[in-house]
Amino acid sequence: MKNIFGLTLEELQESLKPFGVPSYRARQVAEWMYQKGARSFDDMTNLPKNLRATLPETLAIGRPREKDRLDSADGRTTKFLLEFDDGTAVETVLMRQPYGNSICVSTQAGCNMGCAFCASTLHGMARNLSAGEIFSQAIIIEEMLHREGQGKVDTVVIMGSGEPLMNYDNVLAFIRLLHAPYALGMGYRNITLSTSGIVPNMYRLAEEGLPISLSVSLHAPNDALRSRLMPINRKYPLADVVKAARHYAETTKRRVTYEYILIDQLNDGEEQAQELVSLLRGQLASVNLIPINPVVERHLLRPSAARIKWFEQYLLDHHIQVTVRREMGTDIQAACGQLRNKHLKD
Ligand code: SAH
Repeated sequence: MKNIFGLTLEELQESLKPFGVPSYRARQVAEWMYQKGARSFDDMTNLPKNLRATLPETLAIGRPREKDRLDSADGRTTKFLLEFDDGTAVETVLMRQPYGNSICVSTQAGCNMGCAFCASTLHGMARNLSAGEIFSQAIIIEEMLHREGQGKVDTVVIMGSGEPLMNYDNVLAFIRLLHAPYALGMGYRNITLSTSGIVPNMYRLAEEGLPISLSVSLHAPNDALRSRLMPINRKYPLADVVKAARHYAETTKRRVTYEYILIDQLNDGEEQAQELVSLLRGQLASVNLIPINPVVERHLLRPSAARIKWFEQYLLDHHIQVTVRREMGTDIQAACGQLRNKHLKD
């Protein structure tokens, strides 16, 4: 059995070749799967009856199971735990933002980057997700929004579990699927990819000619501290990451966002603020400050509200564009990897 969910139109045409059908049938199948919620070939009522009967002999429409769903008390955040056929589970989060529905997708089951503050990495990485498995997260939420009369998926952030640039080909295929007219038809500008700084693939991404936004997880303004928080910094040090991000901004003319988790007494002082300003001065960039979701076991705590405000103001005073991330869904363990970990523990 071959799973065709998540194939591109060209790949579907290839898969349908043995059946000797005209190529427009592939487009019909794609639209049924990606736009009309078909669960089986039987649902595809504009296909000839005999084709509907023979396709399922060798082809399957494999979709993940909705293993868990949590809604935040304020109704703005919904989190799904989805399970694939092999038992692998991943998280997907929907955030109903003032500017539209934004979803956060996972690209790997677990992660092996080993960042000190992140729950996704605690159990290591199980495996890469295929393009179709990443895409199914978007489809499941798109269908839910339709059902509940809440519109559609407006923006996608590739910021769930996993390091997207360590699963490069599948993530790129996923992004192209989001954009495809027979799938979600989403504009590239509504898609943001976040990376911990896999330098060679940041250059590769810049050459793709896709105007997607890039976010870079910085979290520290010098190598010593960044290596402590993010082991990948020993392979791709700060200066190289910033150079690659600058190259991305210059090539795509898109502003790069640096994510900076604020951790009490660790990276929230005046010295680090100064270092951050000198690192980023003059770049087409902005900083997104993220008050940490505390990892109490590791004594990584959130700075006071006053401290967060001070850090933001310091960057503003030094002409660095800055935003502070609004917190959503803390009551449903919506931070990276938290729900999956809960299930792994149960
Ligand atoms: N691997 C990619 C994408 C996944 S992480 C990357 O590193 O960018 C997405 C964002 O969530 C990153 O900026 C990450 O640092 C942040 N994050 C992880 N754990 C967090 C925590 N405990 N509190 C706040 N943000 C966290």
